[in-house]
Amino acid sequence: MSVTVIDAGEDVGAGSTPRATGGYRAQFSSEINIRLSLFSRHMLLRFAEETGVDPEYRQCGYLFLAETEEQLAGLTAAVELQKKCGVEGVQIVRMEEIAAINPHIALNGVVGGSFGSTDGFIRPLKILEGFIMASRRQGVRFIWGEKVTGFRTNGEWVKEVITGKHEYAAGSVVNCAGAWAGKVSGLAGADVPIRPLKRQVAATMPTDIIPPDLPLSIFLGNGFHFRERDGRVLLLLTVDPEAKDAFDTRVEHSWVQRVRTEADRWVPKLRDTQIDREACWAGLYEMTPDHHAIAGRVPGFENFYILGGSSGHGVMHSPALGLLMAELISEGKFRTLDVSALDPGRFAAGKEIGGVHLI
Ligand SMILES: Cc1cc2nc3c(=O)[nH]c(=O)nc-3n(C[C@H](O)[C@H](O)[C@H](O)COP(=O)(O)OP(=O)(O)OC[C@H]3O[C@@H](n4cnc5c(N)ncnc54)[C@H](O)[C@@H]3O)c2cc1C
Repeated sequence: MSVTVIDAGEDVGAGSTPRATGGYRAQFSSEINIRLSLFSRHMLLRFAEETGVDPEYRQCGYLFLAETEEQLAGLTAAVELQKKCGVEGVQIVRMEEIAAINPHIALNGVVGGSFGSTDGFIRPLKILEGFIMASRRQGVRFIWGEKVTGFRTNGEWVKEVITGKHEYAAGSVVNCAGAWAGKVSGLAGADVPIRPLKRQVAATMPTDIIPPDLPLSIFLGNGFHFRERDGRVLLLLTVDPEAKDAFDTRVEHSWVQRVRTEADRWVPKLRDTQIDREACWAGLYEMTPDHHAIAGRVPGFENFYILGGSSGHGVMHSPALGLLMAELISEGKFRTLDVSALDPGRFAAGKEIGGVHLI
């Protein structure tokens, strides 16, 4: 089987991957996401050996913080499910434990939390580099700087992929265009509900106030979270963007002010540390209606597949989802882990994946 990757970017990493902050977690509230994380973790631990590139998976932990009893009950149910699925080192934590795990946060307003010690950090661009190096060794061809502009179809078959420069005959086609995947599916007349959602990151001026191995800490109320990366503190806050254009990736001044306010409230030690406006960035999540990935054959087609819509978790789940998609195409089924619940047809069939989304 010969494989060709066609990417509109002039070089590696034109999409969201370089803009990811690099978190890995198994603390999810749906069984399928927990199992994808466990499978990915298994692969991350062997990634360097398999690809030749170290993904720099550091098990620093993730600390979720509840501000209401209801949020804490959600975390408790999620932790029970995670344990049932085989996640190790995950537990509900009370105030004294929280203070020991992260002594840098103000606890006024926090009622409890959950901590997962095998969660932590990965390097998105290292993972991308590893995939590319390993697949090149297997003979995969990469074409950069060609945007897919259409498909030649015959009934249920995609016969050719059309770019601005060439037309490529295709046996099977996988749409993995990230936040643009909904648009790309539309070129074949298919409706796949993957939509962009801007997410912004504020970076402080260089500082050693927060240690590099401090667990990523997330407040469930509004999704404010922070971590150290490369000598700066990264601050994030889940707020809907003001920009009307869903593909806009400019950092919004009002958002920076809001994240500053949250940082001042929850991380008092950071009050004297400036945000470096030049170092802030924004990128696009690839959202689906139920915040879970879409993996499978596009309804109405025999050889057109979609892999995407991880809704902000696409780097951490990429080792598992990539392998599973290869199994589906080459063997006709997901062999290692049954993720048929991620089928693209679930939305039309009323089978969206339920559950509370932690963030
Ligand atoms: C601020 C931020 C923080 C994040 N943090 C994390 C995190 O901590 N952990 C995590 O797991 N995930 C995180 N994510 C999500 C993660 O970045 C994405 O889930 C992941 O990068 C998706 O990878 P992808 O390869 O599917 O898409 P992308 O990396 O976006 O790649 C899509 C590719 O499709 C190409 N393309 C688009 N249209 C066309 C076309 N018409 N023709 C040809 N090529 C095309 C683009 O050039 C691009 O190279 C974060 C995202 C953001 C924005």
